[in-house]
Amino acid sequence: MDIALAGQTIETARRNLTAHLQAAAIETPELDARLMIGAMTRLDLTGIIRFAERRLTTLEASRLKDLARRRIDGEPVARLLGHKEFWGLEFQLSPATLVPRPDTETLVETTLDILRADGDMMRALRIADLGTGSGAILLALLHELPHAIGIGTDISFAALQTARSNAARLGLIARATFSGGNFAAALAAPLDLIVSNPPYIRSADIHTLSAEVRDHDPHRALDGGDDGLDAYRVILGQASGLLAPGGTLILEIGQHQSNDVTRLALAAGLAPQGPPRADLSGVPRALAFRHLPR
Ligand code: SAM
Ligand code: GLN
Repeated sequence: MDIALAGQTIETARRNLTAHLQAAAIETPELDARLMIGAMTRLDLTGIIRFAERRLTTLEASRLKDLARRRIDGEPVARLLGHKEFWGLEFQLSPATLVPRPDTETLVETTLDILRADGDMMRALRIADLGTGSGAILLALLHELPHAIGIGTDISFAALQTARSNAARLGLIARATFSGGNFAAALAAPLDLIVSNPPYIRSADIHTLSAEVRDHDPHRALDGGDDGLDAYRVILGQASGLLAPGGTLILEIGQHQSNDVTRLALAAGLAPQGPPRADLSGVPRALAFRHLPR
């Protein structure tokens, strides 16, 4: 790929880069070009427009060329920039963390809707996020729930380091703890809320995922075992022993997993709380269960 950027204005570089990404069949060429130029020049969208006539330095141009090459080779923009926005907050990423997905905002929304309906938004809730990755779900919840405290667990220590540093950057470190372990194995009762977006892709299906996911997200963030349900079996085996009476478990699910996960939850003594919640593409994405007092 030969893309001339040196000495060009920000505006011309943006147009050239967009055309190159488009020619390479990148799905969102304009947005990607803007994000990459923004990252190189440290300008936001308004800045890019305001300084449209400023010329790129040689260093900026060569770095941008490198980013463009990696993007065309299939690296997601979030990996190139090293961060991703989730729930309006910025999360740093590392090779050990999944890029948080817009789909997962459905889980956050479902959780907050339930808490709002129960009048629990201002309570000093105790929350656990199992398989926290970048910390996205837990930190989005703590951001909305001023008196809640939470613990994020992960099997990857490298992910936990990233999550902890995100908590610090977002000003939430005083209310967030992170701990290694097999989902909730290291946690103590009682918890008011357990949330999780566990790995749920069937092992045999991982090769069918888009290259952006398959080649750049960590496999242990994706791989749900032979039938995709391994993590749910573990989590559902742990949850009812940890939840306070009336406590809630909210799980993200993959396509066609709603019935299987509901069946596993019922067998674990948890009662479905409302119908599955769909994501923006209409796919059932979040399931809520309640631990009823016996
Ligand atoms: N919660 C993050 C999000 O929604 O962006 C990450 C979700 S990712 C799909 C699943 C996470 O579970 C990964 O961070 C992975 O390292 C972690 N994980 C996998 N197996 C685990 C286990 N046995 N115990 C704890 N965490 C695990
Ligand atoms: N949402 C991811 C995907 O389909 C999978 C993440 C997961 O296994 N929880 O690419």
